Amino acid sequence: MSNSDTTRVQSQSLPPEKVMHKLVSLAKRRGFIFPSSEIYEGLSSCFDYGPLGSEMKRNIKELWWNSMTRRHSNIVGLDASIMMNPRVWEASGHVASFNDPMIDDRTTKRRYRADHLIENHIEKLRRDGKVEDALRVQSTYEAAAAAEDPNRALYELIIAEKIKAADTGSGDWTEVRQFNLMFQCNMGALADKSSIVYLRPETAQGIFVNFHNVRESARMKVPFGIAQIGKAFRNEIVKGNFIFRMVEFEQMEMQYFVKPGTQAEAFEAWRAERFEWYITALGISREKLHWYKHDKLAHYADLAYDIKFEFPFGIEEIEGIHSRTDFDLKQHQEYSGKNMEYIDQLTNERYLPYVVETSAGSDRLFLAVFADAYREDIVDGEERVMLKLAPKVAPIKAALLPLMKKGGMGEKATALRDELAENFLVQYDDAGSIGKRYRRQDEIGTPFCITVDHQSLEENTVTVRHRDTAQQERIEISRVREFLAAKLV
Ligand code: ATP
Repeated sequence: MSNSDTTRVQSQSLPPEKVMHKLVSLAKRRGFIFPSSEIYEGLSSCFDYGPLGSEMKRNIKELWWNSMTRRHSNIVGLDASIMMNPRVWEASGHVASFNDPMIDDRTTKRRYRADHLIENHIEKLRRDGKVEDALRVQSTYEAAAAAEDPNRALYELIIAEKIKAADTGSGDWTEVRQFNLMFQCNMGALADKSSIVYLRPETAQGIFVNFHNVRESARMKVPFGIAQIGKAFRNEIVKGNFIFRMVEFEQMEMQYFVKPGTQAEAFEAWRAERFEWYITALGISREKLHWYKHDKLAHYADLAYDIKFEFPFGIEEIEGIHSRTDFDLKQHQEYSGKNMEYIDQLTNERYLPYVVETSAGSDRLFLAVFADAYREDIVDGEERVMLKLAPKVAPIKAALLPLMKKGGMGEKATALRDELAENFLVQYDDAGSIGKRYRRQDEIGTPFCITVDHQSLEENTVTVRHRDTAQQERIEISRVREFLAAKLV
């Protein structure tokens, strides 16, 4: 066994284009993520979380849930149903306008979002220092939304700017068409118009329609928030990039209800808190996180920022922070005929609260954490793959490794495993050389390997090997639980 003086860890750099391939293969091989229904050739953009992936995703969601509902005494949880009265989606604007403009390339048969092609083009002009061109295209792009035929205006802009697809270099474009992203199904025996229900495309509406139920039952006073984690479904035109864009995914949303006029202050506070959460709770590298301010706002928003992450395939959104005004409550008030106002008990003022929303996707966060953690380095001259996961996020917290199965070491390690298993997800492994067992744990991000050796039998101590440095320390068995607990706060 190596000791702290002889252990050397050398980092290796990895080209980003290779990282995705390695991540997908590691995810499958070690049971983080599998393609859905793989024995039938899978289903596009659908994935299953395996034994380690489901644990890690649960950790991410729990960290989010706790940071919202436990940490803030004025935020409570909700678990609304996926299917709702279809009127909800008329009121929210999703039936009429949850559309993406799509465009096809006739030569490559690939489909793209027309708005993304233009936004990427503007971004490229800015990067190339062509600021005036960027501003000119930006203002034509903004004007397109108000044009009589917005799709035609987008198409004309793409043609005029000679925009090509970044992945193929081709630009043999069809016209732009609108495409509704909501999945529609029929409830009951009749498949007619009256039986149409939708799979929710966002979790937020379950919160808005329950505004009074939650407020009354939990005796909440403005400002207060409602947090929810749940599945959402979008018939995305452009799929791909593993779990980055899926048709079935999970959102972690919090709607914060405030008095009109105070939304800007609440917005700034949530913006700061959400950014730091990625670093402090998930352990993501600060330098890989970026802000993006929306110039073109959604119909419901008066201010919007995205938190973006440097994925191996580019800098992309992981969370949206939106100041949603009173749009949703107002719409539900109009469509349902129910009063959605809040009455301030102290001042007797009545108003429709404004909403600041934080909306993240647990799958995208999973991919961000996974990509950020991936390392290839050399330990004592031997190559290894390592996931540098924060202990709170790592699926397995510690591995119990008897140096040898025989001589009482196996029994002692098993007893310690059973004791620790009451509080932590730990794993016992006695197969193969100790070096191989370390590598297996490094690859799945286990932060600590606890080895039971000869000395353990005599002195009731174990060695704890730290994943990142491969350094070891010897501690008393009676202190192991306390040691792990301290690393997980
Ligand atoms: P994009 O522009 O990438 O389509 P969006 O702006 O439509 O995202 P929102 O509606 O703001 O996304 O949803 C909030 C969050 O939900 C996103 O930041 C993302 O983390 C997650 N999300 C949205 N769509 C998907 C998807 N198809 N697959 C996985 N996660 C998603």
